[in-house]
Amino acid sequence: MVASHPRPTIKPWLPKLWRDPETLQIGIDPAGGAVVSGVDAGAASWLVGLDGSRSEAETLAAAAAAGLDVANAVGILSGLRQSGVLLSAPVDVDDLGDTGQLLPELVNLTAALTSPLHGSQALTARGRQHIVIDGANRIGVPLGALLAASGVGRLSFLDAQPVRRCDAGVGGLSLDDEGEPRVTAAQRAIRRISALEQALTQAAPHEADLVVLCQPWTVHDPLQARGMNERTAHLAVAVCQGTVVIGPLVLPGRTSCLRCAELHRTDRDPRWPAVAAQLVAAPNRAMHEPTSVLASLAAALAAAQILDHLDGIGVPEVVEATLELCPPDWQLHRRTWPAHADCGCVEPVAEPIRAAG
Ligand SMILES: [Zn+2]
Repeated sequence: MVASHPRPTIKPWLPKLWRDPETLQIGIDPAGGAVVSGVDAGAASWLVGLDGSRSEAETLAAAAAAGLDVANAVGILSGLRQSGVLLSAPVDVDDLGDTGQLLPELVNLTAALTSPLHGSQALTARGRQHIVIDGANRIGVPLGALLAASGVGRLSFLDAQPVRRCDAGVGGLSLDDEGEPRVTAAQRAIRRISALEQALTQAAPHEADLVVLCQPWTVHDPLQARGMNERTAHLAVAVCQGTVVIGPLVLPGRTSCLRCAELHRTDRDPRWPAVAAQLVAAPNRAMHEPTSVLASLAAALAAAQILDHLDGIGVPEVVEATLELCPPDWQLHRRTWPAHADCGCVEPVAEPIRAAG
């Protein structure tokens, strides 16, 4: 049974389209839309007025005033509810304050979650998250900008290198940043896109909710080398020889880790550790940098997976797996990386994997 709501409100992001002079289509997806037929001028005005400004009783009184049969109006409201066209609770944008920039995020979260209240809560939760990006480069900085623009409240970068001309990228570092510390230039890039006062933080990396590893050739878990909390969730993001590789997302103790992936690679190629060590030691050369298109794809795909993790809507696709994308087919491929028996990183009786929420 669908519970009634005191203030009937058509989801404001659904378009209202006239199929003919007496047939109103609400939304474009049959799974979350409705078609109302036999709509005369009075009914049309009444339907447009389902904006949460009136209680259910006032809505029915308005239907009568518009010349509609009340029983028919009740039936229309019931049909709209069953079609998922009406909100289960009002959207409150007032609590966003001066962060109107985030309205598209709120709309998307509200549409994805069962309740507008949950959408607002998820957006607020994003604002409390602290993400550390290891690598203020052509992928890491645009990724940080995407996360800040999506409402992630605290960001910090790890990078000791100065900006080169080839580091400039769409949504990231600029040509004017050449010679400056990458971290300083990255912070400026974030301020260009985010109105959140706390978008940048000086908090210690070990206090992060998630570390994103955007360094080239991320083939080893660098968290222990940095003395960072091995319980910190981390995600590997790279473009390797023209292929975007996102993942795995490691939830320490609960999902397979980067060492598991290395052990699987070594099973297939015993010389892999020697090759990998040379990859890690390779100089950070301009010819290894991703193209603008691949860097943007990597940043966007990584941001989508990170937000899925933060919002807790479901288990991200990159848990115990990588998502890979490359020309010429541009098809998204998912490769699984299960826990390796020789690693021992996953507790024998792991609790069910749940997103961060
Ligand atoms: Zn492992």
